[in-house]
Amino acid sequence: MYDVAIIGAGITGCSIAYELGKYNVKAVVIEKENDVSVGTTKANSAIIHGGYDPKPGTLMAKYNIQGNKYTKELCKKLDVPFKQIGALVVAFSEEEKKTLEELLERGKENGVPDLEIWDQKKLREEEPNISDEAVAALSSPNVGIVSPWEFALAMAEVSVENGVEFKLNTEVKGISKENDVFKIETNNGVIEAGYVCNAAGVYADKVNEMCNEKTFEITPNKGEYYLMDKSQGTLVNHVIFQCPNEKGKGVLVSPTVHGNLIVGPDSQPSAANDVSTTREGLDFVRTKAVKSVPGINFRESIRNFAGVRARTKMHDFQIYEDKKNKGFINVGGMESPGLSSACAVARDIVKMLGNSGLSLEEKKNIVDERHIDRFKHLSHEERAKLVEKDPAYGKIICRCETITEGEIVHALHRPIPATSIDAVKRRCNAGMGRCQGGFCGPRVQEIIARELNIPLAEVPQDRLGTNIITGETKDGGAQ
Ligand SMILES: Cc1cc2nc3c(=O)[nH]c(=O)nc-3n(C[C@H](O)[C@H](O)[C@H](O)COP(=O)(O)OP(=O)(O)OC[C@H]3O[C@@H](n4cnc5c(N)ncnc54)[C@H](O)[C@@H]3O)c2cc1C
Repeated sequence: MYDVAIIGAGITGCSIAYELGKYNVKAVVIEKENDVSVGTTKANSAIIHGGYDPKPGTLMAKYNIQGNKYTKELCKKLDVPFKQIGALVVAFSEEEKKTLEELLERGKENGVPDLEIWDQKKLREEEPNISDEAVAALSSPNVGIVSPWEFALAMAEVSVENGVEFKLNTEVKGISKENDVFKIETNNGVIEAGYVCNAAGVYADKVNEMCNEKTFEITPNKGEYYLMDKSQGTLVNHVIFQCPNEKGKGVLVSPTVHGNLIVGPDSQPSAANDVSTTREGLDFVRTKAVKSVPGINFRESIRNFAGVRARTKMHDFQIYEDKKNKGFINVGGMESPGLSSACAVARDIVKMLGNSGLSLEEKKNIVDERHIDRFKHLSHEERAKLVEKDPAYGKIICRCETITEGEIVHALHRPIPATSIDAVKRRCNAGMGRCQGGFCGPRVQEIIARELNIPLAEVPQDRLGTNIITGETKDGGAQ
């Protein structure tokens, strides 16, 4: 039996796992997919927001401000790609200038540091490629960009080193409570735990209702994106937002931590599992984006993707212990700024568990740092040393991103090992470049088969069942 079961291995569940790993608590993370970070956490704008947007007094405002600071600390400690590049909210009219003033006041009330409004001249000096129509901007220098899936992975990996268990490919199908013990029914048997943290993303309302009365409902809402080649990555220096409206923060144009440009999202009601992209959605994104930055060359698009928001009509995080079922904590409604807030939310979840009776004795020797060898960022001397130690670091597999065989092999043997081509991509960027794995994909597939000692045909592209080949042509077994 576990002390705590966390349902969902996105940024929310992984943050809770990381914080719980610091205590003598037997914790398990239950995830229906074959890897961490494959829900909304892998498909969003990747911005660590400043905190000027949420309404004062909301949980979003509180945790965004705390999370903005804590994320920076954690990314440094856990070697997660992060850059504090600041954001600009751009106004195109006198009317929108008033919105900037409102955001400035709201930001000050929320405690956002160093906010200021720039006039057109300053805006153009700092962002030469911004539209001539832009008349002013709110500058929020505390905003950052992050690799969201690497952030979740880093916290998950460290938590595993501190004793937290991860049960992947394990879907929660029902929950009941008998004699103060939660019985969590899954496709892999019943898991028992004293406490449950529901971090199931767009399915958090369904998981809550497996055991409790309905208290919130998620109306999933999809956002579509363009990811552009590195040729577009320096078009802007900041995260460029337009003025927010009732549908959300609007279409942004931003560099990514990996040197690309991200453009999106739109906002449309969708099914919880609908991550398809559409002509209408992408056309909308494109039309809006060129209003801010007219020079984006959309022929340099290397990928489109979509993510689904866990929207509720309360438009705030739903973080509370169930009134009747003590020990069941919901962490629902984690729409934006959920990525920016999750690490701060997790610290409070631990406090809530403690207040609810969980014994929280701090562990003596915990792992609280992580280092990843990223070949392309090393000096010649560092590269030579690494190759001498392990010749696999001397073999480039992904030429677009300069990723070595050593990094791929490492990704397959980390505390939460990659088991698919996309899982390798999320850990070391192989396949993230211009050709999107067209050249290195088959080689990564071979390395996975060799290292995990499984047939080539059993290597999935991403989720279970996304196999690429059915067999080899000359072995007589192909169908
Ligand atoms: C278009 C878009 C843009 C966004 N941009 C930003 C941004 O720039 N900055 C920001 O701060 N936030 C942003 N967000 C919000 C942010 O992405 C989310 O708040 C965050 O990723 C939510 O993480 P999560 O762990 O709660 O959910 P998820 O990442 O979805 O994780 C939930 C996990 O639970 C698992 N699960 C579900 N049901 C079950 C079950 N029955 N059994 C087992 N496992 C289950 C799922 O498989 C999934 O892995 C954006 C969101 C979207 C959609």
